[in-house]
Order: sequence, then C-alpha cells, then structure tokens
Amino acid sequence: MTQSKCGAPTQSGRRCQNKAVVGTSRCAKHQGPWSAYGVAQRKKKEADAKMRKLRKKR
Ligand SMILES: [Zn+2]
Repeated sequence: MTQSKCGAPTQSGRRCQNKAVVGTSRCAKHQGPWSAYGVAQRKKKEADAKMRKLRKKR
C-alpha cells in the first residue's frame, strides 16, 4: 500500500503535507476527535480544565 498525503486544508490555506495514516485518508492530525492525536489533545484539555477548577476553588 502506498501512503498518500493527507491533503486536508490547513489554517494557512494550503494542503496538509503530512502523510496519511495507513488505512485512512487523513494524517493523525486530521483524522478527527477519535484519532490518537485527537484523544491526546482532548485529554490534555480535560486535565487543564480540572486543574483550573481546582485552582479556582482554593
Ligand atoms: Zn493532515
């Protein structure tokens, strides 16, 4: 199988040049909320929110 490029539009208006993950048409960044990258980002956000709540309470 050949790896195609992601090609998703980026904020700069160009196409994403990352290689697509094997079996999908998008790279890890553009696979959506349930890609490894998306989950990691979500977990980070949740952890940040928790920390902020704890800080506010004290
Ligand atoms: Zn991409």
